[in-house]
Amino acid sequence: MISFENLSKTYVSKGGVQTAALTGVSAAFPDCGLVFILGKSGSGKSTLLNLLGGIDRPTSGAISVDGTPLSDFKEGDLDAYRNAYVGFVFQEYNLLPEYTVGQNIALALELQSQRAGREEIDEVLRQVELTDRDGNPLFDRKIGELSGGQKQRVAIARALIKKPKMILADEPTGALDAATGEALYTLLKGLSKDRLILVVTHDRECAEKYGDRILTLADGEIVADTAPASAPAAEGEKAAFRRGRLPVRRALAMGAKGLKHKKLRLAISILLSAFMCFIFGFAFTAATADTLNTQLKLSYDHGETYVILENDSYYMATFPSGNVEKIDISHIMKPQYDALGEYFGEALLTYARPFGTNQAWDNLGERPENSQKTSWSDDPYLQMIYRNSDRAVEVTPELMEYFHIAPDPRLKDPSVCRLPETDSEIAISDAMVDLFMAAGYRDEAGNIFEIKAPEDMLGKEYGHLTICGIYTTPENRAEMAEKYDKTYDWSSEPETYKYVQGLHLMGVSFVKEGALERNEGPLYGDHPLVGSFGYVVKLSGDRMKDRAFFDRKDVTFTAPNAEGMECHYSLKIRSQYSVMVEDAAYTFTDDSFLTVAWWIGGIFAVVSALLFMSYLSVSIEFRKRELGILRALGASKKDVILICVFESLIMAALIFAISLAATLVWCAVLNAHYLAPFFIVGFIPILSLFLLCFGVAALATILPVYRLAKRSPADILK
Ligand code: ADP
Ligand code: MG
Repeated sequence: MISFENLSKTYVSKGGVQTAALTGVSAAFPDCGLVFILGKSGSGKSTLLNLLGGIDRPTSGAISVDGTPLSDFKEGDLDAYRNAYVGFVFQEYNLLPEYTVGQNIALALELQSQRAGREEIDEVLRQVELTDRDGNPLFDRKIGELSGGQKQRVAIARALIKKPKMILADEPTGALDAATGEALYTLLKGLSKDRLILVVTHDRECAEKYGDRILTLADGEIVADTAPASAPAAEGEKAAFRRGRLPVRRALAMGAKGLKHKKLRLAISILLSAFMCFIFGFAFTAATADTLNTQLKLSYDHGETYVILENDSYYMATFPSGNVEKIDISHIMKPQYDALGEYFGEALLTYARPFGTNQAWDNLGERPENSQKTSWSDDPYLQMIYRNSDRAVEVTPELMEYFHIAPDPRLKDPSVCRLPETDSEIAISDAMVDLFMAAGYRDEAGNIFEIKAPEDMLGKEYGHLTICGIYTTPENRAEMAEKYDKTYDWSSEPETYKYVQGLHLMGVSFVKEGALERNEGPLYGDHPLVGSFGYVVKLSGDRMKDRAFFDRKDVTFTAPNAEGMECHYSLKIRSQYSVMVEDAAYTFTDDSFLTVAWWIGGIFAVVSALLFMSYLSVSIEFRKRELGILRALGASKKDVILICVFESLIMAALIFAISLAATLVWCAVLNAHYLAPFFIVGFIPILSLFLLCFGVAALATILPVYRLAKRSPADILK
């Protein structure tokens, strides 16, 4: 039995205006019977019903359910009360239009964590006479295909399926014609035999005809009651209700349904957010790209067991040109050298020195008139260095093995080709001969010679050393040249491109040890630049172990240079793949690129969070009615939050999937372009992208959902 005493409800609008909807009303109802509540519009009928149904809270006064005050109910008990004890029938039906009759009814039971059997539902449908002409229940009908009277019957069936102790109906016939209305009252009258039914109506005639009792409200007070209030029941046992939860599967489906509403807005929100997350994902991938690892991987993939490790320092850059002295930095690099020997077993110190500009020009046949003033990139000889350092290396048995030294097969008489025997001789690579054949050779007196065949270079001077042999090295020059021509933008250097197109200029020159000390003149230009030292090492066979080596503090470190400036020292790999990998690294892992990408990524992440939030707010606003209905039916706040969370999780998952796919595709395109697996979307970029997408989703969900959860079901339904 349900009773209330001194019940008051005062609404406070946002502007602070107070409306007293109920002012201290009391009554008690027995466990069954049909009770009508009459009154003019605005007299407080709906307010009373909402309070009794637990979808709104009174300002003061007490409602007692089977002897237990409703105010003692915990949040969960109240949800259970709404769901199990009460069956609410609204004037506006409040059915979920996207579901069928059967699904609408089943949902009421699902909220109690109960499964509704088809049989059970059909029986209730027969009970409310919702059948076709042949008497088959309209289980699979869409709500939109029903008449007003039929919809109201679905609403009653939805209440009945729960076998509630009490049915509350707020103007259930308000939208129906008189005949349909009467049929409904007959139905309710029958149902009130074993439960209490409270019906709000304007229709005094019907109330008198069907009602067991009539309550009349005016201005928030009970002004008439055909059966005076009996004494409130004594405190009994605390009413206990079966608490239920919306099944997760159903919440997920409802969350997914939410995405069906504003499709264009959804598509735009998701694509924009995904694009922004993609920028972030790529920036992260670029930031975690590892030049050394890529080079190692390429070497291992191609079965190359030897690589040249070169000291990579900012040392030279700290010296303005013209102010360069020959400075021995070997003591700084000694730890590196020691570490190399320790790790790789044998590390061969070689000399790899860039050629000076003068020497380069001296040997170039067709030197453009104004070339002295043009940038170094117009200089084919410096291009030679740029494309992949030409280097002078002392011949050792290990290197002969590594380079598979063989005379240039183009030589008609290979016996004229030999390795240097004195420190005034040099053996050059076939790659360099290609360049002379393209550009011509100029001697010291300025005479230009056309070079038609490799033989023509034998005996000529190269950096004041006499060329004694032309050897091939094992790299696939044609392939590498093609790659490089494609990769590098030559449009600003047409003069150079004329000579170097189709040539891959990686060349290793072989000299005797003394040649390097002896030649401080033209071979290295006028400046005896301290070049980079190279170490030839045999890889250990374990790429991860090799990679870890480069992070050692005695391999990568900072130390002061001769001018007292802190300089960074590390090792980098020189191989035929270096150009591509370094080009990619130069373009995409450069500090300014990364800074810009980070900022853009960061700003985009914020914008994307806002977009996400605005979409969810709109979507929740749009579905408020649906969520309010669920709440009124007894869904807990948690259930409703779960639905919204699922909706945003699905969105986040879509954004994550799209942006990850975009990042993967873009990285694959770049890797194909640079012919190196440089951009690896590894665990850390994926994790960051994941955290970004789902973090943004969480941020965007909290506010709208919090606002929704705070409101009472009656409030949401308004
Ligand atoms: P009835 O159902 O009898 O037409 P209601 O119970 O809906 O009347 O409303 C009673 C009074 O309370 C009316 O003056 C109405 O304007 C006011 N009221 C109802 N709901 C709210 C609300 N959420 N905020 C402010 N005033 C409200
Ligand atoms: Mg009303």
